[in-house]
Amino acid sequence: MQQVLNALGISDVNPGGFSGSWSGSGKLQAVVSPIHGERLASVTNVTPQEFEAILARCHGAFAAWKLVPAPKRGEVVKEIGDELRRNKEALAELVTLEMGKTLREGLGEVQEMIDICDLAVGLSRQLCGLTMPSERRMHRLQEQWHPLGVVGVITAFNFPVAVWSWNTAIALVCGDTVLWKPSSKAPLTAIACTKIAEKALRKFGFDPAICSLAIGKGSDIGDLINTDPRVALVSYTGSVPGGRHVGRLVQERFGRHILELGGNNAVIVSEKGDLDIALRSIYFGAIGTSGQRCTSTRRVLVHESIFGAFKARLLELYAKTPIGDPREHKYLMGPLVDAPAVDTMLAAIETVKAQGGKILCGGEKLPHPGGCYVTPCIAEVPGNLPIVREETFAPLLYLMSYKTIEEAIALQNGVPQGLSSAIITNDQGESELFLSAAGSDCGIANVNTGTSGAEIGGAFGGEKETGGGRESGSDAWKAYMRRQTSAINFSGKVELAQGITLDI
Ligand code: NAD
Repeated sequence: MQQVLNALGISDVNPGGFSGSWSGSGKLQAVVSPIHGERLASVTNVTPQEFEAILARCHGAFAAWKLVPAPKRGEVVKEIGDELRRNKEALAELVTLEMGKTLREGLGEVQEMIDICDLAVGLSRQLCGLTMPSERRMHRLQEQWHPLGVVGVITAFNFPVAVWSWNTAIALVCGDTVLWKPSSKAPLTAIACTKIAEKALRKFGFDPAICSLAIGKGSDIGDLINTDPRVALVSYTGSVPGGRHVGRLVQERFGRHILELGGNNAVIVSEKGDLDIALRSIYFGAIGTSGQRCTSTRRVLVHESIFGAFKARLLELYAKTPIGDPREHKYLMGPLVDAPAVDTMLAAIETVKAQGGKILCGGEKLPHPGGCYVTPCIAEVPGNLPIVREETFAPLLYLMSYKTIEEAIALQNGVPQGLSSAIITNDQGESELFLSAAGSDCGIANVNTGTSGAEIGGAFGGEKETGGGRESGSDAWKAYMRRQTSAINFSGKVELAQGITLDI
């Protein structure tokens, strides 16, 4: 453990603010691992005065950074990617230690960071605008994309480093500077990543305040980000109530926001689908990261003709789930992030019972050290009960049956969230219906693969209460830039649009 902390430059006590130099004289916070309840290190939060200095420096750094040619900015991102390659194992282990996901998933998370850096490097030569034909003779219409400003990146605990990288790699090549407020449940990984970015920026002679950091409570540091007009874009990842609050504050000052909020993701298992594919995808989707992914599978809708057989096989898999220290390869499920998360899960199970659901397995707290381990739970429910419509951020899976594909799609869409969805079927008509305008209403709709484990090449995000934001690949970069449309007249005379004449 100490080796990992040393490799990433984590001291016993670490200041939680960075903007070219480190600061943090606020509250001292001990960071405790959910794996065994031991203290890993401590962090000092930034005070509001220190935050002001951090934001001022990050905002100041934008003036020079926006003028650096995008492919040169890409070189810095390439270096960040290479540093991540060099530190992949150590950073993955720190993710595991700090928030409890299995090491294999921690390694996957860091790989995702490397992948987004590669994507962003290519993008740095592809920030293309369009040219359009003008309705006026000897005129040209074009659009360009310019850097936007400071991007405030507020992240959740469950992907403590990947979400920062999705935003930062893209924002940097777009010419923006980044001010990161991580979850207070995962501050050490944030310090480690900021040091990696600092090293890369310094290597190329750029101001390290381009990648700034401010660790502190959401209700104070978060709100300072939400309300400050110097933060051009707030990219917020977290719960629906949090996003509602952030969205309101940022909108009030006409700032921009990307909201990446909670999901309530379902898999439809058709009688025309492959049962093995269904079982493997759903099992990983439901227990991966101990059910603490925004894309975790929360609901399974099974055709009535195979409901019994499917249920029996899923229960068999659940009974064998290896639960324990997530650093050990033999375990597929580690702890929840902290003891309150366990309480939330147990309370939700009581509510399921009270609302008419039947617990088929799991949902017990295990006597492991640290107090954060549970057995994954399956509940059979008659439909989208009120508790089923909520996102319980834990390994609690709802099982229900359907008669027709139309009924399954209505059930899948019948929740307030709209992040990820999937259908397991070999019937082309069913899968096309699922992907059509009459099908899934989610930002992600998969066929013959589960709801969790998105690739960075596509735009990531969801609809309805998931917030509507998009990050990562495709053309998600456009949210990080300012669009400018220009009409260029080379006719030597004035001609007005829409045929308007000017008789003077
Ligand atoms: P959370 O809402 O408790 O916290 C998220 C972040 O918001 C933290 O950094 C927190 O400090 C900050 N915050 C709190 N109050 C704030 C305020 N007033 N202003 C600004 N920021 C504030 O979420 P969590 O428990 O860390 O993460 C779990 C949630 O995140 C789940 O709902 C999950 O679905 C969601 N999530 C969504 C995505 C996605 O891409 N859609 C990805 C990961 C997690």
